[in-house]
Amino acid sequence: MQPDATDQIDYEVLFRSGPGGLVVTDSDDTIVDVNDHLLIWTGFVREDLIGSPFVRLLPPADRILFSGRAARLLHLEGRVSDMSFTLLGKDRAARAADLFASRVRGAATLYMFVPRRERHSDEEHLIRAVRQAERSDALRREAELDLKQAAQYDALTAMFNRSGLLTRIVELAVGLPPLSEFSTFVVGLDHFRIVNGSLGRAGGDQVLREVAKRLMALSADGFLTARVGDDEFVVVGRTHARGTTFAETILESISAPMLVDELEVVVTASLGASVVRLESSERIHPASMAETQMRQATTAMYEAKASGRNCWKLFTSVFDDSTVDEIRLLGEIRAALANDQFRLEYQPQLDVASGTLHGYEALLRWDHPERGLIGPAGFIDLTERSGLINQVGAWACRAAIEQCAALNREPDARPVTVSINVSARQLADPRLADLVGALVRDNRLDPALITLEITETGLITDSRRAHRNLKLLHDQGVRVSIDDFGTGHAGFAYLKDFPVDELKIDGSFVAGLGVSVEDTAIVTSCIDVAHAVGMRVVAEGVETRAQLDRLAELGCDIIQGYLYSTPLHRDALQSFMSEPWR
Ligand code: C2E
Ligand code: CA
Ligand code: CA
Repeated sequence: MQPDATDQIDYEVLFRSGPGGLVVTDSDDTIVDVNDHLLIWTGFVREDLIGSPFVRLLPPADRILFSGRAARLLHLEGRVSDMSFTLLGKDRAARAADLFASRVRGAATLYMFVPRRERHSDEEHLIRAVRQAERSDALRREAELDLKQAAQYDALTAMFNRSGLLTRIVELAVGLPPLSEFSTFVVGLDHFRIVNGSLGRAGGDQVLREVAKRLMALSADGFLTARVGDDEFVVVGRTHARGTTFAETILESISAPMLVDELEVVVTASLGASVVRLESSERIHPASMAETQMRQATTAMYEAKASGRNCWKLFTSVFDDSTVDEIRLLGEIRAALANDQFRLEYQPQLDVASGTLHGYEALLRWDHPERGLIGPAGFIDLTERSGLINQVGAWACRAAIEQCAALNREPDARPVTVSINVSARQLADPRLADLVGALVRDNRLDPALITLEITETGLITDSRRAHRNLKLLHDQGVRVSIDDFGTGHAGFAYLKDFPVDELKIDGSFVAGLGVSVEDTAIVTSCIDVAHAVGMRVVAEGVETRAQLDRLAELGCDIIQGYLYSTPLHRDALQSFMSEPWR
């Protein structure tokens, strides 16, 4: 018998001497091998690269291109071809290259860089002149576009995230004929914490990806799927009077055994469904309909969990008449203001370079006489929608500024800042700047110690008034920070129009640091861009030492999160300040 031709081929030698620069990475995009061509081209030795993240080979602007486009294509289609990149050598000089890549068996990826043909000097000359003019603008636009894109997708599963989903629902619902049946299914995996605990984080991620794959496969054309929480998914679409049978199908598909590292695993889920019939097309307000349905389906999902899990419940108005609930809650919030039931807790922020306390973020709490301490998630939305936020917010500003003044009055106190959350509605209120100005004056406080945290939504909602207010505040010396940066729609272009001193990188990106290439690239470019325009950067939701170390390496100025401290009661602030942190 003829020997198999492959018996005689030494694939190792082929790889080593292969044409172009070859790089193999594992599922985390950590480099596991490179060929000789790449080493000669870049000047690295093999040990420099093995174990480092792939993006190390790219400059910051290309990292955004990589995470926003190449990584996503690889995830979705398994390959990338002919994308122009700059390859960074050991000497930090740029080498023009075209990138080809394919995801091989399992999760390994093979990348090939091919040198781009050198241009003749006259061609080069012409192009350089044109580029010079386009460059800064194009780079900025690209960064914005990719950040905006990334903000719409879930990095782990390549599904939409909540904000991507809501945007698409609006597009979907507008095109539906009247009397369509429209359903929202919220799917929560059962005991996912235990799954994670026994399979490890990487195993848990595999489970989530598999569930995502099954949901996407199940959803016929016209359905939207999203991952909206750690272990929560949403399926939305027109159901043709089969909404409830579809719920059954979803649960069956999830609970079919799956293989995780050669281990057979069965996970189950609880599902809540909200089904509506669109009465007449004129009456649809797609965005509020989508949010209402999502809330209803989530309530139903928790009902399903409460009744033993691995089952589904349909939302019925009997167990949540949300309008009645809201009216009652509004009355209670008014009473809370009158009866002094609001509190602030203060979460410490660490100055990374000096390792000392930078200041505190003031976080609102409601000390409810029957239900105990309630976090803002339970009431801030309604407070904002009803307009009561102006009163609640004014209360919070006063309490926080008085507290800040007290802390800074202590003998030998080093300056401590306080950050105050300001909602979109407050930012549009012409009285805000006066209020803050008067409080700063009355308390004889250095205004630079006060930072107002606003969201991208706040900037966009009533842009003209927001701008006027921010300018007034800025002129008084008060600092302005963009909260949850990267999750909204504003992007860098917006920022240059507003006086902004600080960017606060959202905790969801911090959680992906060193885990997801995309999150890592987003954090990196946020820090780079912020510093380039003279803003300081705070990373929030920092929970691990590894995240802190990575952020320090990237040059982040301030961190905040459970690693350093949870939010503290007012009385604990003094002792926190006097104790060193390691
Ligand atoms: P935010 O401004 O993004 O606040 C950060 C939230 O993350 C806080 O939740 C905080 O307790 C939590 N957190 C802090 N460190 C970590 C961590 O390491 N890991 C995790 N997983 N979470 C962490 P909280 O206190 O429930 O506040 C929620 C939101 O409510 C705030 O989000 C802010 O948007 C809003 N809010 C809080 N206080 C006020 C206020 O006085 N006025 C207004 N308008 N909004 C407020
Ligand atoms: Ca905040
Ligand atoms: Ca935040």
